[in-house]
Amino acid sequence: MICPFCNSQNLRVIDKRSSSTQTIRRRRECENCKKRFTTYERIEKVTMQVVKRDGRVEEFDREKIKRGILKAVKKRDISDQTLEDIVHEIEQQLLNSGKQVVRSVDIGEMVLTHLTQIDKLGALLFAAVYKEFKSLEDVEKELNRLSKKNIN
Ligand SMILES: [Zn+2]
Repeated sequence: MICPFCNSQNLRVIDKRSSSTQTIRRRRECENCKKRFTTYERIEKVTMQVVKRDGRVEEFDREKIKRGILKAVKKRDISDQTLEDIVHEIEQQLLNSGKQVVRSVDIGEMVLTHLTQIDKLGALLFAAVYKEFKSLEDVEKELNRLSKKNIN
């Protein structure tokens, strides 16, 4: 950064405050010409949009995913740490993909892939909620599909 008046790089921060959670405002003084000016820094937030089944778009919310799993598998013996690990892995995977828009069905599939490896019945319970099973046939179909998902 250089002084806008004399191009000196010899600057001093005299005051710093966040004008919002997204912006940091800094009051600077040039050591050379003693003039003062203000700079603003924007903090870029990593955000992802999630497209829901009905087409609505929401901001990615890891806690919401965790709550969704928890709700479906609360009767199963899956520790909070395990759920936290699953959500963390999914979140990392999504962030690494660099996508800015993901479909909720894809997140659901990722959850299923992880759950199937830990607890098949838990995975089925989760699928029942997120796929809104209407009949026993739906359960059977999903069971077959989940069995193929995991070789174990
Ligand atoms: Zn200056």
